[in-house]
Amino acid sequence: LVTVPRTEKEMSRNSSCEPAVFIPVLRTPEIQEARLKLPILAEEQVIMEAIKENSVVVLCGETGSGKTTQVPQFLYEAGYSSDGGIIGITEPRRVAAVTMSQRVAKEMSLSHRVVSYQIRYEGNVTDETKIKFMTDGVLLKEIQKDFLLMKYKVVIIDEAHERSVYTDILIGLLSRIVPFRKKKGQPLKMIIMSATLRIEDFTENKRLFPTPPPVIKVEARQFPVTVHFNKRTPLDDYAGECFRKVCKIHHMLPTGGILVFLTGQAEVHALCGRLRKAFPYHRRPKSEEKEDSADDMKKFKKAKARRAKILPRINLDNYSVIPIDEGDEDRDAGIDDGEEAFDDDLNLGDGVLEEGEASDSSLPLFVLPLYSLLAPDKQAKVFRPPPSGTRLCVVATNVAETSLTIPGIKYVVDCGKVKKRFYDKVTGVSSFRITWASQASANQRAGRAGRTEPGHCYRLYSSAVFSDFETFSLPEITRRPVEDLVLQMKALNIEKVVNFPFPTPPTTDALIAAEELLISLGALQEPSKSGRLKELERAKLSCPISPLGRTMALFPVSPRYAKMLALSGQQSCLPYIITIVSAMTVRELFEEFDRPAVSEEEKMKLKGKKARVAQMQKIWAGQGSSQKFGDLMVLLGAVGACEYGQFTYKFCEDNGLRYKAMVEIRRLRGQLTTTVNSLCSDVSVSVDSKMAPPTESQVTFLRQIVMAGLGDHIAKRIQPEELLDEKWRNAYKTPLLDDPVFIHPNSVLFRQLPDFVVYQEIIETSKMYMKGVSAVEPKWIPVLLPQYCHFDRPLETPPPSFCPESGRVRCHRESTFYRIGWQLPAVEV
Ligand code: ADP
Ligand code: MG
Repeated sequence: LVTVPRTEKEMSRNSSCEPAVFIPVLRTPEIQEARLKLPILAEEQVIMEAIKENSVVVLCGETGSGKTTQVPQFLYEAGYSSDGGIIGITEPRRVAAVTMSQRVAKEMSLSHRVVSYQIRYEGNVTDETKIKFMTDGVLLKEIQKDFLLMKYKVVIIDEAHERSVYTDILIGLLSRIVPFRKKKGQPLKMIIMSATLRIEDFTENKRLFPTPPPVIKVEARQFPVTVHFNKRTPLDDYAGECFRKVCKIHHMLPTGGILVFLTGQAEVHALCGRLRKAFPYHRRPKSEEKEDSADDMKKFKKAKARRAKILPRINLDNYSVIPIDEGDEDRDAGIDDGEEAFDDDLNLGDGVLEEGEASDSSLPLFVLPLYSLLAPDKQAKVFRPPPSGTRLCVVATNVAETSLTIPGIKYVVDCGKVKKRFYDKVTGVSSFRITWASQASANQRAGRAGRTEPGHCYRLYSSAVFSDFETFSLPEITRRPVEDLVLQMKALNIEKVVNFPFPTPPTTDALIAAEELLISLGALQEPSKSGRLKELERAKLSCPISPLGRTMALFPVSPRYAKMLALSGQQSCLPYIITIVSAMTVRELFEEFDRPAVSEEEKMKLKGKKARVAQMQKIWAGQGSSQKFGDLMVLLGAVGACEYGQFTYKFCEDNGLRYKAMVEIRRLRGQLTTTVNSLCSDVSVSVDSKMAPPTESQVTFLRQIVMAGLGDHIAKRIQPEELLDEKWRNAYKTPLLDDPVFIHPNSVLFRQLPDFVVYQEIIETSKMYMKGVSAVEPKWIPVLLPQYCHFDRPLETPPPSFCPESGRVRCHRESTFYRIGWQLPAVEV
């Protein structure tokens, strides 16, 4: 390791603008050489001057120009963390927070004790930490504890163009924190970093920044990328089309890495498997000379022979394609204006190998997956050069679009799709849909091909379809319910959420729905009862938080689940509720077996597995009261079984459970348990406790707690005698929706059709389906959810009666469920 002499350009910057301190950094010559090639290095002086002169700076530049890895280093060298302050960087994705902290530590030859990261469940931050990468959610939680973020000297909001909800809120909050800190004489610098995409939402938003912050653009050395559209858009099999395109590229085009964009983890794995099968990579014997072990050689030859056999005709059997939403299939335009070089046959123009000159298509393909939930050590592989004699092919989801830059990519294959969760902002009904990406995303994806040399991007859709894409995708905050955000803000004493300087505000409808839910959960103080005033106050959206709400805000889960946690003070039930809430928060604990199978063999396999899992679920659901607890009892049973038995991959695999989800549930249980323990000193819950199954009476209590949290997610079965229209057969009515909803076929209560249920969520596919269903007793409703009831009968109906056991007079009240008018049975008061 050597201290590399600083270049003249680097030295010159010291003169005018920098603080007198200069913290030297040791870098290896290779690192120094690589970083000097980054376009941002040429702008260091301009950037540092702007930061010195201004509290807020917007820095935008192409992905890969060096923003994330270099700016923290500039600040470190300039002494921003020299007197105990921290340089904080927020990322919307966990992957980026982890990999970037490792990369920066390596570049600076510092240990992770100094350059650290913190994500939801883990981190390596120490007292010595000077540069801290974290997810945006982590910083938001820190603001709750220390509103002025006194630990930090600089906060960098990275990837601001992704417009993640937490990033948006952080920008809003920091726009207020920064002037406070200035007034206090302990200034905080804020840097918003973004790809070159629609930065006006930050700069031209007078409510956010009355004086627009300076914008520094970093010109990246981007090599030209030739974009090739398909003549036709494949209707459904875009994954298969990706496969064929990669085969062609590998077959016909000169060396250079391939990056494929697909929509989700399952697709990524399927394509990786298929490519590995087609172009197997076996570690090559060290040299091919005689001394090689005969075994190795045999393997290698066999693989080569197999490749030769596979190449001419690719076997498309036994490959299952993840179905895309039907809504998208009619989007094929198919007709083009004829201006582009069409490319169904890879007519690349320059760069194509002449016939006979064919690339070494027996070259193995070094195939790597890349997606958010992939283990960090596996993610890191994409940054290392592929083994010699192979071509790198990374199959990725959106993470490779802007967060991570993979070296050596020359060809991009873009399926043009993206998987998104869609919500109804008011009812919260959600659906996962695979839709077309935006033009901005497609261009970002294409840009990945031109980082190191001129590249090519193959779009598996026609240019006519492309011109129909949205220009940008809408910020997340405008697309989902916001009750969790509103609660977090109220906990920060931001009462009038509607006045908050959002870069793009959520709709008023979404804000009102959130506020109403929080009032009915008891998290906000009910506005005064007198009718008109109540309306007015609701309209102003300014109800202050209640003590219960403050407790709820401490739990990193949805307010409905937080309410359950806050209610279940009884020690004997806490571990169960913590487990159920964790399992509901992590979602998708069970594998999906409903995907269409391609081969008969696969179909049988899926069917067998599904049957086995259904049987296990029945066992976990138990008998009697447990059975009525339904899908939530299944969650509890599954986690219990896993924790009680062996917590192994095999156990999960055998029982249709996702191992990753199980691991995450365990972590969340730990975190919630710690929070609960810190809240109540008299209770102490331990997370490792192997839970015995709950008793009958505990289950009843659990069902009641769950109902209290899911009060607005209640549904009543339409009885056969009430049936007016066939479409309501076996259906349920909910207060929020006019349409019939059904119990999901995978629910253990599917055939039982209890009279009243609460559900975790509604997913819309062919019908509206309730998932995570649990039966409730109607007589509980007036007691546990009085806020939803009208007690409109006098106490005397039915007449009061004397109870000899207690010696008390019993009164009964009848009620109706508001909005819907369901008659509820009389309850004792
Ligand atoms: P930006 O934030 O502007 O998109 P980055 O700072 O992330 O750019 O990346 C700058 C360069 O550093 C990229 O071109 C990439 O090749 C390189 N780089 C980033 N992370 C790693 C890593 N983990 N290993 C090797 N190179 C990396
Ligand atoms: Mg970056």
